[in-house]
Amino acid sequence: MQLKLHNTLTKQTEVFTPLDPENKVVSFYTCGPTVYDFAHIGNFRAFLNADVLRRSLELLGYKVNQVMNITDVGHMTDDSVADGGGEDKMEVAAARFAEAKKSGELPDGVSVNPNDPEAIAEFYTNAFMQDSEALGMRIVGDAKQNPSLMPRPTQYIQEMIATVETLIASDHAYVASDGVVYFSVETFDDYGKLSGNTVETLRSGEGGRVDMATQEVKRSPVDFMLWKPDATHLMRWQSPWGEGYPGWHLECSVMANSLLGNEIDLHSGGEDNIFPHHECEIAQSRCVTGCDAFSRYWFHTRFLLVDGSKMSKSKGNFYTLRDLLDKGATAAAVRLELIKTHYRSNANFTMQGLKDSQRQIDRWRRLKDWLTAHREVASPENGPLQIAREQFVNALCDDLNVSGAIGALNEAVNVYALDAEPEPKGASTLQSELDALLEMDSVLGVLDLVAKGGSGDINVEEVDALIEARLTARQEKEWNRADEIRDELLKMGVAIKDGPTGTTWSRIVQ
Ligand code: AMP
Ligand code: ZN
Repeated sequence: MQLKLHNTLTKQTEVFTPLDPENKVVSFYTCGPTVYDFAHIGNFRAFLNADVLRRSLELLGYKVNQVMNITDVGHMTDDSVADGGGEDKMEVAAARFAEAKKSGELPDGVSVNPNDPEAIAEFYTNAFMQDSEALGMRIVGDAKQNPSLMPRPTQYIQEMIATVETLIASDHAYVASDGVVYFSVETFDDYGKLSGNTVETLRSGEGGRVDMATQEVKRSPVDFMLWKPDATHLMRWQSPWGEGYPGWHLECSVMANSLLGNEIDLHSGGEDNIFPHHECEIAQSRCVTGCDAFSRYWFHTRFLLVDGSKMSKSKGNFYTLRDLLDKGATAAAVRLELIKTHYRSNANFTMQGLKDSQRQIDRWRRLKDWLTAHREVASPENGPLQIAREQFVNALCDDLNVSGAIGALNEAVNVYALDAEPEPKGASTLQSELDALLEMDSVLGVLDLVAKGGSGDINVEEVDALIEARLTARQEKEWNRADEIRDELLKMGVAIKDGPTGTTWSRIVQ
């Protein structure tokens, strides 16, 4: 079975063939988070789709060497537009911490010195690792064995400086009159191949963003920053161009090439990474390595919307995994909700969708428990789940059609009437059906999470039903019954609160 994947670089859906097809090894670089805040569910959509791609390749028998950076350098909030414009993200985080300290309320009661960017980065890195593990991202398990698989750019500053020196020596970069080192875009013919933003379209303004502030000093307005001397920046390092900090794009080029080789198989990110970040990564890496490709395939996830619009704190539709767990969701349901829409379409996150995902998982789990209990019972050869497994893999091979894969699984689930005792028949046993189910879950990764418990296995539907029953009991003045239900909820790990707009509930966090 061959995986077909849409390649942003060629704009075609292609058969995926790695550089080392014989050994079935795949090198995969995933652009990771900037750890200056909690990752939100939009970020996790991009990371989880990369995880689903990795798991699909593993199901097809590939060994995937995946690297994901944890950006702990304070890049700028306007980095995608300007050359070092806006605010330093770490300074933004530091200000938030200082404010929280003043009001005596640091996030999660953790004390972090607001003047210590490393401590802030570490705080959010730990939070990211916990959330990623809760959501079943396989890379976290790898990084526990080999931390270099989730590298920090602060550990690669010398390699970045060496790369800038190489680019200057080969005339792909220059020091401008403002002392900043820029990459000279016109020295790289393939600039624009990934995003369609060629030097010409960018110049004429069609491609969007050119930083006006630095136009004067650059050879070309589209040249981008590699190193910026700045003695006031919160995080800065010594360099041949003065104390300062690296351009945002540099770290991914340097870490991908250092850890995975000059030419890699796969590179992923969210759609906003295509330009300028990935376009610039390609330019930097190829001018240093001299290879025809930096990454051979590019995989980009479209944005997650919430209730049909962009997530924003002011709209109150901005969620982290933690927010959703506090509302009683399970990490398994959040995972399924974030992966079930095709990665090249916008996904729309809703609370109703999350409930549907939970219901879906509960059904699969009931079938898994039933098959486990009856695993030795004889069944026809090539039963429904084994047939579904083939359709499931076919759907994934069709540019990661996850919803088609889930559809195939559900058709098989519908065949099983779980209340009926299975009739012994056939040469095979239900163990083969259970194996097929678990194999499909090795990509979806949800039953696995439920089995691990971890993030709590609270059934949202059940909680809603109990709250409803308690309300009815109270209306009928059956106070003892109402208290019993509250105790039952407490035993499930759910605390309730009666307020003017009704009863709300939250997971009891230990
Ligand atoms: P950042 O920490 O801002 O660099 O973002 C980390 C990753 O999340 C990047 O690959 C972004 O492209 C991706 N991302 C950010 N917002 C969203 C969103 N709403 N939906 C999907 N991916 C997103
Ligand atoms: Zn990156």
